[in-house]
Amino acid sequence: MVTDGHNHTKHFSADAGQSIDELINQAKEQGFNRIGITEHYEVDYPDDGLDWTFDMNAYNDAFKTWKEKAGPDLELLMGVEFGYQTHVAEEIDRLAMQIPFDVVLLSVHLFRGKDFYVDRECYKLPKTDLHREYIGMMAEMCERCDNYDVAAHYDYINRYTDNLANFVLYEDCPREFDRFFEALISKEKALEINTKSIQKHKERCFTMHLPDPAILNRYREMGGKYICLGSDSHFPGTFGVCFDEAMTYLKSLGFKESVYFRQHKPYSESL
Ligand SMILES: [Zn+2]
Ligand SMILES: [Zn+2]
Repeated sequence: MVTDGHNHTKHFSADAGQSIDELINQAKEQGFNRIGITEHYEVDYPDDGLDWTFDMNAYNDAFKTWKEKAGPDLELLMGVEFGYQTHVAEEIDRLAMQIPFDVVLLSVHLFRGKDFYVDRECYKLPKTDLHREYIGMMAEMCERCDNYDVAAHYDYINRYTDNLANFVLYEDCPREFDRFFEALISKEKALEINTKSIQKHKERCFTMHLPDPAILNRYREMGGKYICLGSDSHFPGTFGVCFDEAMTYLKSLGFKESVYFRQHKPYSESL
């Protein structure tokens, strides 16, 4: 099984409900040899009563104990998921170097300063305007930051919509997608296939639930080599979700490998 490179625990992620023991047990039960733990860190996140940051040194220390718990059969990769906003780019790049992370994920969780999870106003916009602005932010994030490895869940914008036509397609905003991919490819970063997004699309009965093949084909056509998979698990029972389906799908499009990062270096695994 390939690495599940995107998971959260309740110890350091404000919105997660699983313990490190639960995560380790699920990974072992499902036959994984390696997982990434990527706790949320949001700089200047709008106040919602939760603490979206954590003490990096405490995390670094805890991780040593976690690695011992996991034992020799399951490698834990120490990661972080930074939330991007235009005015925090330099701060994220600085924080990413504070402790020896294996992998740094960058995400866009906010649209015009509000998380889709709590504010659904953005879904009143025409679909192409919404996607152009969101993928444009992904492109800006990948251009402006340097100390990262993976651009996470480009399709986060769909998770909470009631409009099934909101599924992200390449044709919605080809120029923004090309800018996004150009930045990723020139900096040798990876594009994440977020299997929680796949699961959410299935739950909501979207007409499509797997990523638009035109997006993945264009990424490869432009020279994109690095794809990684992450289930973005936050609660027991969601680790590794839809992995088999995503792997089969990627293979059907001609992808042969995915990658994981150790000390920011990409390592290939066959799909
Ligand atoms: Zn995220
Ligand atoms: Zn996440």
